[in-house]
Amino acid sequence: MGERPVIVVLLGPPGAGKGTQGERLACRMALDHVSTGDLFRDAVTAGSPAGLRAESYLLSGQLVPDQVVLQVIEEYMGDARRRDICFDGFPRTRNQAEKLDDLLRQFNLSVTAAVYIDVPDHIALRRLLGRGRADDTEETARHRLQVYHQDTEPLIDYYRKAGVLIEVDGIGGVESVARRVWTTLKAVIR
Ligand code: ADP
Repeated sequence: MGERPVIVVLLGPPGAGKGTQGERLACRMALDHVSTGDLFRDAVTAGSPAGLRAESYLLSGQLVPDQVVLQVIEEYMGDARRRDICFDGFPRTRNQAEKLDDLLRQFNLSVTAAVYIDVPDHIALRRLLGRGRADDTEETARHRLQVYHQDTEPLIDYYRKAGVLIEVDGIGGVESVARRVWTTLKAVIR
C-alpha cells in the first residue's frame, strides 16, 4: 500500500450486497472492513452500553441515532492515520457523512472513493427476505428501504459533488459484481 491511507465508503440500499462486496474488497486490498451493522449486532450480543441503546432500532429497522453511531465509529477509528478502511453501512445520513469528513480531516485525510452499488428495490427486498436475519421480516425490510431512500440516498449526490462517486450495477452474481467493483475502483485508486 502507498503512503496515503485509502478510505472507501460503500453505498447502496440494504440488500445491495455491501457486506459481501466489502469483505471481498477488504481482503483484496488489505483494507479494514468496518460494518456498522456488524458492530451493532456484536454490541447487542455482548450487551454493551452501545448495544443496549441500539437494539430496538435494529429490530424495528430504524436508524440508530447519529450520536451512538458516531461514538462507535470514533472509538473504532482511534488513530486512523495508519489504516486503510472500507466502511460498510456508514455513513447513512448526511450528518454522519459530514462528521466522517470532519474526523478524517483531523488526520489530513478524505474519502478516496464512495462505491454506490445500485440495485432496484424489488431485488433488494427479495435478497433481504431470502437472508432471514432477525431484522429481515417483510415489514422491517420494507421500512429499511424507505429509510434508505429518505436518509441515505442523498449521500450519492453528496459524494458525487465531492468528485469521489463510483457507480456500479449491483444486479447479478457475487462474482460479476465484485469484478465490476474492482475494475472501476482500481482505476481511481493510487
Ligand atoms: P443492511 O445494509 O441490510 O440494512 P446493516 O447490517 O448495514 O444491514 O444494518 C442493520 C441495521 O443497523 C440498520 O437497519 C440500522 O438500524 C443499524 N445501522 C447500521 N449502520 C448504521 C448507521 N450508520 N447509522 C444508523 N444506523 C445504522
